[in-house]
Amino acid sequence: MTMRQSLIRAGFGMMGATRLHRVAAPLTRGMGVILMFHHVQPAKARSFSPNGLLEITPSFLEATINRVRQLGYDITTLDEALGHLRSRQARKKPFAVLTFDDGFRDNRDWALPVLDRLRAPAVFYVTTGFADRTARLWWVELEEAVRRTGRVRIAIGGERHDLPAGDADEKLAAFKFLYWRLRDGPEEELLDRIAELCANHGVDGRTIVAERCLDWAGIEAVAQHPLITVGAHTISHPRLAKRSEAVVRAELAGSKAILESRLGRSVRHLAYPVGDRTSAGQREFEIAKELGYVSGVTTRPGVIFQQHEQHLLALPRLSINGDHQSLGNLDVLMSGAAFALWNKGRRVNVT
Ligand SMILES: [Zn+2]
Repeated sequence: MTMRQSLIRAGFGMMGATRLHRVAAPLTRGMGVILMFHHVQPAKARSFSPNGLLEITPSFLEATINRVRQLGYDITTLDEALGHLRSRQARKKPFAVLTFDDGFRDNRDWALPVLDRLRAPAVFYVTTGFADRTARLWWVELEEAVRRTGRVRIAIGGERHDLPAGDADEKLAAFKFLYWRLRDGPEEELLDRIAELCANHGVDGRTIVAERCLDWAGIEAVAQHPLITVGAHTISHPRLAKRSEAVVRAELAGSKAILESRLGRSVRHLAYPVGDRTSAGQREFEIAKELGYVSGVTTRPGVIFQQHEQHLLALPRLSINGDHQSLGNLDVLMSGAAFALWNKGRRVNVT
């Protein structure tokens, strides 16, 4: 767990216990929130599930939507939310926008029926290379490689590592070490080292993508649904800030053009892959704007304030974390109180 994660966890406990967030909410919850989801599917009983934070059950999605409405939020489309920000008019009710990243099959199979039943609009951010089966779900590849071996032997940046991975605890420790060690480094090294582990342990990345991600017929079908807005999520899902400007431009312009020609409509919303400050920064925000995107969402945590109108290409989101599927945590998260503390009262964090 990173330092920030430990602080966040401690903060949830403290606020949940004291109910401090309820007192603070009117000041800290801002104009609205953008919630971030990944997989939505029935729970699988697995002892080793290092990417479990990216997975919630359909019933928790339903409970979340109901709670968001109970807390007084309007669930709106992203375009409506941007309209509220631009109009600068005080609103009685804050907005909540639901977003789903990557273009997973389960978003159609499990999330969409819930959204449809509850009449809740959402954005699906699609990585075109997942639909084409050319991009890689490297974090799942790493999970599968560690799952299949009792020992991980690997050289990263010239340094040799020999990690035990016999039981679930060892596997989790090995996964976390490799994940963060590789995520700290260059994109090419991350992809090459994980490809090497896949080759050594019989993991087929293409099959993983084909099993998990919608194909074009699937994406075209969900795009027809009146509640769904399709946004871009690049071609190959790179951590853009680690790549050259030429690559950033090609990824952002290319994915927009591909989606527009496939779907026959304009695509104006973007989610930056991985989306933390080491993956998307000022350069990416400026290029995205220049290329015609009207909004860009990061994974930097925070709620939306009026000031974000000046930073529509760098919007924060709240991650609905599969490791903590609790409505108590959701209340604390949505109050914004935690972010007010952690950001030291600073409302906009775009640097
Ligand atoms: Zn993604």
